[in-house]
Amino acid sequence: MNALSQADATVVIRASRVNGWTEAAANAAQLRALVSIHDVMPSNLQQITELLEICARHNIRHPTLLVVPGLDWSDQQIEQLHQWQRAGCELAGHGWVHRCRHPTNLSHRVHSLVLSRDVAEHLSRSSAEVLELMSRCARWFEKHDFELPKLYVPPAWALGKVSANELLRQPFSMIETISGVTFAHQRRQLRLPLLGFEADNQLRRVCLTSWNRLIRCNLRKTSCVRISIHPNDHRLLLADDLCRSLQLPMQPIRYDALLGFK
Ligand SMILES: [Zn+2]
Repeated sequence: MNALSQADATVVIRASRVNGWTEAAANAAQLRALVSIHDVMPSNLQQITELLEICARHNIRHPTLLVVPGLDWSDQQIEQLHQWQRAGCELAGHGWVHRCRHPTNLSHRVHSLVLSRDVAEHLSRSSAEVLELMSRCARWFEKHDFELPKLYVPPAWALGKVSANELLRQPFSMIETISGVTFAHQRRQLRLPLLGFEADNQLRRVCLTSWNRLIRCNLRKTSCVRISIHPNDHRLLLADDLCRSLQLPMQPIRYDALLGFK
């Protein structure tokens, strides 16, 4: 009989506590997880603090924080970001103001109806405008004495009309979209499954529950999963699903660790 190490035993115990997740979770002992908190803005730092506490209770000490820079940040709030970064949280750029223009094309209208509402800031913009927006986002971090983040996540994961060649002309190393993470300068993409919980109505609850179930059933086929948290998820309809996901036996990693992936 194989003896279980202390770490293995802990994994099994944690897995056994997660109803409905046990088999996938037990098989996912080596699973790595990219845990991110979206929409870090001046208006919701209280919710971000609560989510960081929830993550810490699940031994996820350093989620990646997706910061929306072009808003009315006070010096005190920027200092709070510095404190979170000093504590080990990776910061990422997340659009500029996290609000889109009025949709000017059909695909944006459909996207906003189905998924993004009024936040897909890149859509209905030219590639030059998107690249300028990304550069403005990067300059904000440098202006406020942060290191330039490695990661950029367009609002609603919608990059818009930007080609791989054009991505060479923006300042971030990695761009996260709905399908995975693109390494801008290596012209390659790592496809990664994504769990989400932003269910503020019954339709979203049903869709996200089915989506998450599908991802969960296939966890054994992947070595890394993305867990994407929005600021009110712990107060919305999939709060329990979020907590179950955070209990998966997994090793949280930073996005910048992906730069070493082959
Ligand atoms: Zn967002």
